[in-house]
Amino acid sequence: MNIHEYQAKQVLKSFGAPVAEGVAITSADEAESAARSLPGPLYVVKSQIHAGGRGKGKFKELGPDSKGGVRLSRSIEEVVANAREMLGNTLETKQTGEQGKQVNRLYIEDGADIDRELYLSLLVDRAVGKVAFVVSTEGGMDIEAVAEETPDKIINVPIAPMDGVTQDDAAKICDALELTGQARDDGMTLFPILYKAFTEKDMSLLEINPLIVMENGRLRVLDAKVSFDGNALFRHPDIKALRDETEEDAKEIEASKYDLAYVALEGDIGCMVNGAGLAMATMDIIKLYGKSPANFLDVGGGATTEKVTAAFKIITADPNVKGILVNIFGGIMRCDVIAEGVVTAVKEVGLKVPLVVRLEGTNVEKGKAILDQSGLDITSADDLDDAAQKIVKAVG
Ligand code: ADP
Ligand code: MG
Repeated sequence: MNIHEYQAKQVLKSFGAPVAEGVAITSADEAESAARSLPGPLYVVKSQIHAGGRGKGKFKELGPDSKGGVRLSRSIEEVVANAREMLGNTLETKQTGEQGKQVNRLYIEDGADIDRELYLSLLVDRAVGKVAFVVSTEGGMDIEAVAEETPDKIINVPIAPMDGVTQDDAAKICDALELTGQARDDGMTLFPILYKAFTEKDMSLLEINPLIVMENGRLRVLDAKVSFDGNALFRHPDIKALRDETEEDAKEIEASKYDLAYVALEGDIGCMVNGAGLAMATMDIIKLYGKSPANFLDVGGGATTEKVTAAFKIITADPNVKGILVNIFGGIMRCDVIAEGVVTAVKEVGLKVPLVVRLEGTNVEKGKAILDQSGLDITSADDLDDAAQKIVKAVG
């Protein structure tokens, strides 16, 4: 689960990390009083969307000369003018894709006098089986470009889980970031704090780009992007409450209500499969025969008719779906349950695209009989190859 920058900063602040003062607003009328509550004279108006690269982004409605999604403002009037121009419009950045994201919330923040912009992230480094700091002196800009062009400028400091961040680790990070004086003292305190926040809140990613050294020599978290491990959310009701469903794919939200493993993709063949491995194989074979899957969907091992019905409805509601492939290997999952789910869903929502069903395993005959007797226009397939070829051909 992802959260907004202003929420991430609140979480980090609660652990003692230095962040700027700021106020989140959802209407331009609130901009003036938000700015007045800050020290000034420099303010920053920041779009709150679940995507990075906002500073260099453009608002679609404002044309090619549009200013970005993070704007320095030198007076309260400028804050208000910027807020009016940004709220409700669609920001397109490197990370949003072409459709962009509507900006429904702004963070009005105290402006900082920046001396240096650094990069710092914390992630689970699976290669070493540890949480690691990834840092670079080349902050503020596109870290992917730094990784590509000057990989030696990115330094990885893994943390031993039993020890946490030791003085040695913190010093290593300070060295990598070339911190001296007050900034170094701040770093020695900040890095253990960030690690504590990361592990206690079950984050899967914490990215601060930039972490800045201010002209007064102090460190400050200027941007913050945090993702949490969805499987651990049950033990963090405070974090769960930060979820902003308007930022998420509506189909994925619906799927999560039914505990379905669903990921929306770009292609046009909807897939309903049981088991993640079979789902991956199904997606691969669709690709092999020249089309792309519209989604990853694993209905799981012991799905009920209701769950299958919900899954089928989510697939059919997607306007990109030009054909559906149901591929079930019945082990614990019974083929007749799948067949009943498909028939129930089609009766409720109709079927406007070709449907190919391949059933195999437990109760396969019963399942096929249910489909045959339903009177629905279903193409049945015998194996994975046959199924993929049939649906690709039907979609054309
Ligand atoms: P994004 O990464 O989405 O573009 P950032 O929060 O990193 O958004 O902001 C982009 C740039 O704007 C930063 O690299 C920094 O130079 C500047 N900036 C952001 N917040 C502030 C602030 N509070 N004070 C001064 N400059 C800021
Ligand atoms: Mg940033």
